[in-house]
Amino acid sequence: MSGCVFCKIAAGEIPAQIVKQGNGMIAFADMNPQAPTHLLIIPTIHIGSLNDAKDPQLLGGLLGFARELAKEQKLDTRGYRVVLNTNPDGGQTVFHLHLHLLGGRPMNWPPG
Ligand code: 5GP
Ligand code: ZN
Repeated sequence: MSGCVFCKIAAGEIPAQIVKQGNGMIAFADMNPQAPTHLLIIPTIHIGSLNDAKDPQLLGGLLGFARELAKEQKLDTRGYRVVLNTNPDGGQTVFHLHLHLLGGRPMNWPPG
């Protein structure tokens, strides 16, 4: 979708530190990291938010990708957090579906 920053990253039109790609998904470093490891996982096709994601296979694929990535990043044993912010009250600021993979420090609960 034109004007979407994550579509531009998926198309290689704006640079990002890509760490994994395949099966219609890409993972790259968040430009404003909130943990020692902070990666974003996106589908390469434009989907605005979880509310717009109608394909359960795609959603499962994103979670499986996050789990593989966590293992590759050696976060699996100590642990990590996967976050999916949806719409303004959920804290979503980029309206292209994405998971945050956060790790490398203990996470707090409840979230802010
Ligand atoms: P949200 O608040 O929508 O859940 O998360 C959006 C995330 O995207 C934020 O953590 C923000 O730092 C990150 N972000 C926004 N624009 C860019 C960009 O152009 N490049 C990268 N690498 N990250 C971005
Ligand atoms: Zn997009």
